[in-house]
Order: sequence, then structure tokens, then C-alpha cells
Amino acid sequence: MSNVSRGPELMEKLVSLCKRRGFVFPGSEIYGGLANSWDYGPLGVELKNNIKMMWWKMFVSRRSDMVAIDAALLMNPKVWEASGHVATFSDPLVECKACHARLRADQLEGVCPTCGKKEFTEARAFNLMLRTWLGPTQDDAAVVYLRPETAQAMFVDFKNVLETTRRRLPFGVAQIGKAFRNEITPGNFIFRQREFEQMEIEYFIREEEWEAHFEHWLGEMKKWVALLGVKPERLHYVDIPDEDRAFYSKRTVDVEYDYPFGQKELYGLAYRTNYDLGKHEEHSGAELKYTNPDDQKEKFVPHVIEPSFGVDRSLLVALLEAYDEDEVDGESRVVMRFPYWMAPVKVAVLPLSKKSELSEPAQKLAQQLREADFAVEYDETQSIGKRYRRQDEIGTPFCVTFDFDSLTDGAVTVRDRDTMAQVRVPLDKLVTEIKQRLA
Ligand code: ATP
Repeated sequence: MSNVSRGPELMEKLVSLCKRRGFVFPGSEIYGGLANSWDYGPLGVELKNNIKMMWWKMFVSRRSDMVAIDAALLMNPKVWEASGHVATFSDPLVECKACHARLRADQLEGVCPTCGKKEFTEARAFNLMLRTWLGPTQDDAAVVYLRPETAQAMFVDFKNVLETTRRRLPFGVAQIGKAFRNEITPGNFIFRQREFEQMEIEYFIREEEWEAHFEHWLGEMKKWVALLGVKPERLHYVDIPDEDRAFYSKRTVDVEYDYPFGQKELYGLAYRTNYDLGKHEEHSGAELKYTNPDDQKEKFVPHVIEPSFGVDRSLLVALLEAYDEDEVDGESRVVMRFPYWMAPVKVAVLPLSKKSELSEPAQKLAQQLREADFAVEYDETQSIGKRYRRQDEIGTPFCVTFDFDSLTDGAVTVRDRDTMAQVRVPLDKLVTEIKQRLA
């Protein structure tokens, strides 16, 4: 159907559409920006909320074996000592001797991408955690880290979750929230940022069952990417070889995607054994064991499977997958083919003319639709064709046109984003009709 090129020009088109239509803006733009920081605009925040809400439904509220938390971003720094982040959460940093560009040694192909020279300093480990101070003194004792992942809170809160929910194994703890990494080379739009959002699950299990649970979660991740609308041929499930895996992980699968800038990570799935809970037991002195309620003698530190999803990368992939161009009556149009559940605006209400005899009832209709819980946009400026194009460009599934006939026949025209077919629907059946079509 679509013959949109998937090369770097697709990223340019997308970044420009995102800015023009209010999905994603450059952060702090009026002050010249802040390198690689991005703000989600009015449509972007709706899109992001829809993605997070669907994830929550699929992985938390529709399952009987999941609970969730919302932990503080700032945690006791001992957490990051226990987890190993203080000692080892680093990337190898080199500096170009000619232009002083700072680069990641593991991503370098022998030549400085900034100036083309080939001489670099020795690589040194650069810790990726962002640091700040709590309270009025700025000394070592006041140092805290902005969390580099949401995951550790699920281990740190394990005892409290277990005691308050009386869960039996296997069960999972989920969390959606911000994470921060002082990335050496952020970039590629929202792909790699220093402040981003994660949706993570720690699924606690018995050691002997790890392989079955790992397969289950791999299957669930495949269902999720299908729901996002990702074409299977653009996905790669890469088993990470022993030498590249964290030493405590017995298996890691990276879910990779063919971005216009290459095949790179979208999500990760890792079997982390009982390493984290074990380390927190050791460092905190708290007991982080599970006791079998049917056999009190069976007491152990549970193992864990960790499916980890980036919110921003989900959004980027959803945008890339939705982007399409086609031709209507000899004119080209851009259309975002979001799955209906994801579309930031579900219905646009468009009076055929700005005259108050049409605009007043049309505004009333728009309000009725808002109160029926649809995300609605009302637009009365410019020609109806231009207004359709504007809605196509933000992926609105349905446009409802209120015309002069509507005043006498009590019906409106509903236009479909993908087929562009138009049907006449009586006003008193409109809510039901749209609900059915969106379902
Ligand atoms: P990468 O190899 O791309 O740096 P990672 O392996 O360090 O990623 P994880 O630590 O596994 O990433 O983090 C889990 C998920 O969080 C990733 O799969 C990705 O979706 C997201 N993520 C990680 N780092 C960033 C970032 N800097 N910007 C946006 N999303 C990120």
C-alpha cells in the first residue's frame, strides 16, 4: 500500500511533522534549546498517555498476577551501590585529540564523526548516572542519583509489596516512570535522551521455572509490539551472547527494530536470576525472601524475569509505523495510520461553513462527543478539503461534517481516515456508530 521511503528522510519528515503539529517540540526552544531534550506537546502527551494506558491494561489491570508501584525518583544512594550501578554503570568514553568531541568508544568506527580525524585518547569508564545533592550542603554525604532505571525500586520495595498484597509466586511488580542517564552521545530524536520514561516489570519466580516464564514474556512482548502496529519484518529478536551479557543474567533477548538510522534496541527481556534481591539483602540487612504459604520450610530469594520497555522508543516506533503518504484526487496527503486506540484525536467535528447557523450546532455536537469520552477536535477554518488533510496528518480516525442539510435531516457525514469513504449518520445514532467503529 505505502511506498514511503524508510531512509533518513523519513526521520526528517517525522521530526518536522511532530513539531508542526504539536507532538514533540525541542525542549527549552526559546532559550536556544537544551541539547537533545524534547517536550511532548498537546498531541504528543495524548499519544503517550494512550500508549501507557494500553500497556497498563495489558500488563497490569487485565492480569491476576500483577501489581504496580510508583516509587520516588530519588532513592538512598546505597541502592545504587548494592545494584552495582555506582561501580559499573558506565560507557567507555574517548575524546578526539583534534576536535575534542567526546564519543563512545564502543560505537566508534575508527574515525571521528565530527572532524574525520583518527586519533583518540585512551578510553575511560564514564558513569552514566546523573548526580545531584539533597539539602543545603553540597558535599559527598549529600550526593544522590537520579534513577537510571525504574527497576531497582521493585526490588527495594519487594518486602513491602509482598507483605501488603500477600501474593504467591509467580507474580510481577510493574512501574511506569522517568529514568535519567548522562548519555555520552544522545540523539536520533527521542531514541536516546538523557531523560526518558520506562515501563518495566519484575516478574518473580521459582528458579526451576525460569525458562517457561521467559518464553511466556517473550510471547507477551510480541503481542505488545503487534498491538503497537509494528510490522513483524521490521523486528529482530536478538539473543545476547554470553560475553556481551551482564554476568548475572542467564539469558537476555533484545527486541530490535529497523529504524531509519539502523537496527537498534527497542526493548529488552532479561532473566536476572536472584542477583538483585540477593545484593539488596546483603547490603541492607533486610530479609528479602519468599516463604511458601503451604510449606513454611520452603524459604528462598525469588528469581526474576525482567521485561523492559522504553516509552519514548515505543512512541518513536508508533510514529514511524503510522507515517504514510498517498494521493487523493491528484493531491498528495500525509496520513498517520495510528491504530484507533492510539490516535490522540478520535473525532473531528467540522462545520461546512463558519456561519453561526452551522457553527453553533456543530460546537454543541462537539461538546456532546467530548462528554461521551471521545478525544475531539473542532475546526472551522479553511476549506473542508484542507481540514480533512489536517486531520489525516494527525491520524484522526473520523471526521464528522455538519452541513446545511444537517439542519433539516438531522444527520451528519462521517468520513473514514483510511478508506476516505463517507456515510450519512443520524445525529442520535452518532455516538453508538463511532463507538462501534473505534472498538
Ligand atoms: P541502549 O543499548 O540503547 O543504550 P540499554 O540496553 O542501555 O539501551 P536498558 O538499560 O535495557 O537499555 O533500558 C531498558 C529500555 O529503556 C530500553 O530498551 C529502551 O527502550 C529504554 N532506554 C534506555 N536508554 C534510553 C535512552 N537514553 N533514551 C530513551 N530510551 C532509553
